[in-house]
Amino acid sequence: MFGVVGIPVTEIALAAQELGIKYIGMRNEQASLPGACLVVSGPGLIHALGGMANANINCWPLIVIGGSSERNQETMGAFQEFPQVEACRLYTKFSARPSSIEHIPLVIEKAVRNSIYGRPGACYIDIPADFVTLQANVTSIKHKECCMPPPVSMAESSAVCAAASVLRNAKQPLLIIGKGAAYSHAEDSIRKLVEQCNLPFLPTPMGKGVVPDNHPNCVSAARSRALQFADVIVLFGARLNWILHFGLPPRYQADVKFIQIDICAEELGNNVRPSVTLLGDINAVSKQLLEQFDKTPWQHPTDSQWWKTLREKMKSNEAVSKELASKKSLPMNYYTVFYHVQEQLPKDCFIVSEGANTMDIGRTVLQNYLPRHRLDAGSFGTMGVGLGFAIAAAIVAKERSPGQRVICVEGDSAFGFSGMEVETICRYNLPIILLVVNNNGIYQGFDADTWKKMVNLEDATTTVPPMCLLPNSHYEQVMTAFGGRGYFVQTPEELQNSLRQALQDTSTPCLINVMIEPQSTRKAQDFHWLTRSNM
Ligand code: ADP
Ligand code: MG
Repeated sequence: MFGVVGIPVTEIALAAQELGIKYIGMRNEQASLPGACLVVSGPGLIHALGGMANANINCWPLIVIGGSSERNQETMGAFQEFPQVEACRLYTKFSARPSSIEHIPLVIEKAVRNSIYGRPGACYIDIPADFVTLQANVTSIKHKECCMPPPVSMAESSAVCAAASVLRNAKQPLLIIGKGAAYSHAEDSIRKLVEQCNLPFLPTPMGKGVVPDNHPNCVSAARSRALQFADVIVLFGARLNWILHFGLPPRYQADVKFIQIDICAEELGNNVRPSVTLLGDINAVSKQLLEQFDKTPWQHPTDSQWWKTLREKMKSNEAVSKELASKKSLPMNYYTVFYHVQEQLPKDCFIVSEGANTMDIGRTVLQNYLPRHRLDAGSFGTMGVGLGFAIAAAIVAKERSPGQRVICVEGDSAFGFSGMEVETICRYNLPIILLVVNNNGIYQGFDADTWKKMVNLEDATTTVPPMCLLPNSHYEQVMTAFGGRGYFVQTPEELQNSLRQALQDTSTPCLINVMIEPQSTRKAQDFHWLTRSNM
């Protein structure tokens, strides 16, 4: 349980700990998104709405428990009074207040079930202040056991046959592996399908690792080309939203055939008219597809023109990134930074990332080898969630496989949203490595000299460009303030050394503040800070 205590929920957190529930106290509700989240009334709950929206839009299970004002003071202007159940409806699958304390178990069961059945999502349970001190009549409690694990649904067998036949006739097939595949633990079956049928695949940002990024069939380095020329695309739990350019031309062929697999029936057919829809759990449906190819084996030829096109494009794109990474000029560029980080990262680490270029470029260089080991700004593009994710991942890692590391790669702007969670990291002594990729701004900033020339601090509000943050901010000192280790890094050697030390020392949280070129690599323009960098 994550949360921020206060009136009226402090006793709930204490009682939870007494029951053996781990409680992690955060500094702001916006960062306490994973698992169960305990918040105070009014403003506390309102801060949590951002986290709830983030979870719900990403289809993640989340249960928020909010204290609310006393029932007999409602409408009287009670302390932190707010229509919380109604407010949460837009952000959740289920939002309710138990009618009595005897009803609490029933509502909890329903919330848990709603959060994990079908398309997962967020749920809200409202606990009025007066409930916290009431005594329950034990005999009248509707003792409900918690729900069964979600039932597994399978696709119609005729649709499975149709899908296999469309795939067999593809000249330029492509699999897109989304978060849904990760949620359903479909890594083994999808990998078999990829290998047995020799299919190129493309992971979405959080689908990374379901099949490892270094698998020979991964065509991430030719993403645009693969999307643009595929004639049949199988979507494994990935929505055709902005991340996948809505499935529309010019990013796709106008007549591309989509085979869509999803657990949510209403999702099927969004933005395109699919050729085949497979409604069901990704893992179960992938196995159904495998059966088809076991019965009548089929393989996309290794020497096809399609593979040739993709491999050539991958090679040339990789050469461009390598060249950028090898640039010796200072300050470093994004590619140089990520190249050095990738060299040292343990293969089993969790990678958390948020920011604009930091996240987008980082994703192309930093490799994932395990499913469910990448967390980022996600479908909602939320900033401020990274440190909360890193904390949750570190707690899971500590329990399941001690020694496993969490690296949290933040833009300097992204870090600012929840920077005080560094205190949380130090309080629980979580061996997280925070890497702040610092370009002095949002998208881009000024170097110190340009800042001095351009900014008149007598008139700061009209002369500081909106995307600029203070140049050369020492974010590493946020970490040292709480007893962790901080590094201010300007060269590849300093980056390598600090990262090596951080990885060796598993007992202390670290923050490595890496200064990079504040302007993008594009040539200077007259009003360059007014043009968005090419994301
Ligand atoms: P990505 O960001 O990776 O493209 P999205 O969040 O857009 O992924 O899509 C994930 C999809 O996966 C959602 O449409 C959701 O309904 C679906 N999904 C979630 N869990 C499962 C599951 N176990 N089986 C099938 N589909 C799932
Ligand atoms: Mg920045």
